[in-house]
Amino acid sequence: MKRFVYADSASTTKMNENAIKAMIPFLSCNFSNASSLYRSGREARKALEQSREKIAKILGASLPSEIFFTSGGSEADNWAIRGACNMLIKQNKKHIISSAFEHHAVLHTLQALEKEGYSVTYLDVYKEGIVRPEDVENAIREDTALVTIMYSNNEIGTIQPIEEIGKICRKNKVLFHTDAVGALANVQFDLKNQSIDMLSASAHKVHGPKGVGALYIKKGLNISNLIEGGAQERNRRAGTENVAGIVGFSVALEETHKNLSEKNKKLSALRDRLIKGISKIEKVVLNGHPTERLPGNVNVSFEGIEGESLLLRLDSEGICASSGSACTSGSLEPSHVLLAIGLSHEVAHGSLRLTLDENNTEEDVDHILNRLPGVVFELRNMSPLWEKIKCKA
Ligand SMILES: *Cc1c(COP(=O)(O)O)cnc(C)c1O
Repeated sequence: MKRFVYADSASTTKMNENAIKAMIPFLSCNFSNASSLYRSGREARKALEQSREKIAKILGASLPSEIFFTSGGSEADNWAIRGACNMLIKQNKKHIISSAFEHHAVLHTLQALEKEGYSVTYLDVYKEGIVRPEDVENAIREDTALVTIMYSNNEIGTIQPIEEIGKICRKNKVLFHTDAVGALANVQFDLKNQSIDMLSASAHKVHGPKGVGALYIKKGLNISNLIEGGAQERNRRAGTENVAGIVGFSVALEETHKNLSEKNKKLSALRDRLIKGISKIEKVVLNGHPTERLPGNVNVSFEGIEGESLLLRLDSEGICASSGSACTSGSLEPSHVLLAIGLSHEVAHGSLRLTLDENNTEEDVDHILNRLPGVVFELRNMSPLWEKIKCKA
């Protein structure tokens, strides 16, 4: 049988079996609206609120009411940023601090706000892909409404100094939002003791269903609504609740966080085995920080080849990988993340992201290490770019 290796968990993850099982009743026998007053509606409501409690507890929130369900990570990011800005417009605060390598859900929201008259400072992430807290402090102005910095980068896996940044924001009385969608599967949060005002989460990156996520909003913070309509989510996010999705989200998160530190240790060992094997190939660089990175993230650039053809060849070897973020594939622009850490267009084009999770095994890593060098060799042999690089050396 042909081997199949899924190494793209930063794009999406395989659903957890128990999460699927927990969802089925709310897709079949109990399809009721959670706002309905009859028994089945009350049961749906109960499952919804229990899911909220479960997620709040795993994230270490003070209260379940700090968790608001959304249609995913993108909506949570849009809501946090727009909601904070709309709330603070009365105080004439029209400046936002962020970084150059945020997810498009943040970046494109900020770009839209710039067109509406906001000014945005995009902080440098330097070669290693990490925002410097002192840069955040220096960028804060009288009119700064919000700082939004992702917890971990979805392409190069680097983990940001979120605690320090949060403390700086708190000291300067500026709101702090973090997109933690990519970190949620591996990081233990303790939100009641952290300096985070808002945090975005998504189910499908933690073995839950697609199309559901959450925004954590610290108690007492009344950001404006993004989606108007009915009175769901205590009047703050309209729309009939996705009961099955929310139940699946809570079970998936719970299962993913079981024995988390043990899983992370195993995962880092797999990652390091993969990095070690890949680094034997000539003219390859590891992107991001060597240690301050997610336990499952490997991102490398091969000189002289083109990411898209690499992905197609790996696909025919049964390996699912990515060349950057899924949203940019198909476009010719290299990843904004790789450009932000200073890679040239040429090198960025030859990049490969392999993201592992708890379902991956040593055999998976060995299969990749078995096929990748040959594929790179073959592609380089056909590449005029590689000819030039070889001649220069
Ligand atoms: C996947 C992802 C998102 C978007 O989440 P969706 O639920 O797919 O909308 C946002 N931010 C980061 C860092 C992500 O990895």
